[in-house]
Amino acid sequence: MTDGGVPTARDEVVDLCRELIRIDTTNTGDDSGPGERKAAEYVASRLDEVGVEYTLFESTPRRASVVTRLAGSDPSLPALLVHGHLDVVPAQADDWQVDPFSAELRDGCVWGRGAVDMKDMDAMMLALLREYVRSGRRPRRDVVFAWLADEEAGGKLGAKHFAAEHRELLDGCDHAISEVGGYSFEVSPDLRLYLVETAQKGLAWMRLTVDGTAGHGSMTSHDNPVTELARAIGRLGSHDWPVTLTPTVRAFLEEVCDAFGLPFDENDPGPALARLGPLARFVGATFSHTANPSRLNAGYKVNVIPGRATAEVDGRFLPGQEDEYFATVDSLLGPRVRREMIHHDIALETSFDGALVEAMVAALRAEDPAARAVPYCLSAGTDNKTFAPLGIRGFGFVPLRLPADLDFAGMFHGIDERVPVDALHFGVRVLDRLLTTY
Ligand SMILES: [Zn+2]
Repeated sequence: MTDGGVPTARDEVVDLCRELIRIDTTNTGDDSGPGERKAAEYVASRLDEVGVEYTLFESTPRRASVVTRLAGSDPSLPALLVHGHLDVVPAQADDWQVDPFSAELRDGCVWGRGAVDMKDMDAMMLALLREYVRSGRRPRRDVVFAWLADEEAGGKLGAKHFAAEHRELLDGCDHAISEVGGYSFEVSPDLRLYLVETAQKGLAWMRLTVDGTAGHGSMTSHDNPVTELARAIGRLGSHDWPVTLTPTVRAFLEEVCDAFGLPFDENDPGPALARLGPLARFVGATFSHTANPSRLNAGYKVNVIPGRATAEVDGRFLPGQEDEYFATVDSLLGPRVRREMIHHDIALETSFDGALVEAMVAALRAEDPAARAVPYCLSAGTDNKTFAPLGIRGFGFVPLRLPADLDFAGMFHGIDERVPVDALHFGVRVLDRLLTTY
C-alpha cells in the first residue's frame, strides 16, 4: 500500500496475475474447453470495483471478451489499443514441478500456465487501469484495453469476432501493443537487448490430397495415390528454403552482430544466431519460409490400394513474399496434388520508427539504463494480424526485464511456465511511462 492506503499497480499486479492463472481457460482448439467466460467475469469484477464501465461480449457460449476505453488527457490524439488474450494452451500437469493452475509463488516467480503467455500482460493492463482510475492520473491518449478470447486457436471466437461485430469499440485506434515482444536478452551486465516484435510470418496450414485408382494390392498399379503423395511431400518437406532477410530480420541481425562485436554477413546469419543461446530457436525460423508436413492419412487394409491419400502441412511464409511462397510450394508438389487451406493468415511487417517506438525506447531506457530496443520478426502469429487490416499498426511489447539464465522463449507453451515477480513490477513501470508519455 502507498500513502493513504490506495493500492498501486505494483501492489496488485502479482495477485491479479495469480488469480487469472487460477481460472482455467484452456483452449483445446475445438471449443470443448472451459472457455474464457469466468476469466472475463473476473476482469469485469475488478473493473466494477473501481467504477469502470466496459463491454463484455461472447462470440459463442462461454467464449467471452472484455473491452473498455480509458479517456486520455489529450483527446485530439488517436487512440492506442492494448490487447491481451485470456485463453491458454493445455498443460499436462504430470510434466510440471507445480500444479499448472495453482499459481504458486516460488523462487521469486509466479508459476503456472499463462504466466508468460499471457496472463502476465493481462494483469499488468488491469493493474495499471485500476491505478489510473483511482489516482486520477491519465494516459496521454485514449487507451482501449481489450482482454480477448481464443487467440491460441487463431482468434475466430475472440479478436476476429471483436473486429467484425464490435468494431465501434476500436474507433480512433491506429496503433496497438500486445504479446510476444519487449523481453530482455542479456548480452552483458551493461547491455540488454529488448526484442520488440515488428513483424510476423504468415500462416498457411494446408491439406494436400491425391486421388488415384483404388484396387487390389496384388495388382500392378501405376496410379497409386499413396506413392504420388509420398513423392510430393518428400519434395516439399526436404526443400532447402533459401535464407531471405526481410528488413526487420536484417535490422535485428545487425543489432545482434553489433552487440557481440561480430561482422554482419547477410548470407550467413549462423554465427550471430549461435550467440543467442536458447533465443536462437525463437528467431531461427525467421530467415526463411518453412513447410513442415505434420500429418499423413491413407488406406485401411494392407492388401487394398486406397483411392485417396491426404497430408497436412504447417507452412509459414515471410512478410512480403506470400505469392512467391505458394508458387514454390505448388511447383514442388506438382500437378497431381490438390492443395486446400485449413487456415490461412497474413504476414505483417512494419518499420521500427515513429512516436510509439520512440516512447517504448525511452520508457525502457528510463527503467533499465542498459536497455537497447531492437526490432525482431516472430515466426508465429498474434491477434495483431486481425487488427492490421483495420489500419491498426501493431507491435509485440510486453516489457519484462529477465534474469540472464531464464530460458524465456522456452516458456511459451512449455512446461514450468513462470514469470519473475520483479519482471512484473518492471513491466508496470515501463508500461506506465509508455502510456503517459506516448
Ligand atoms: Zn499468446
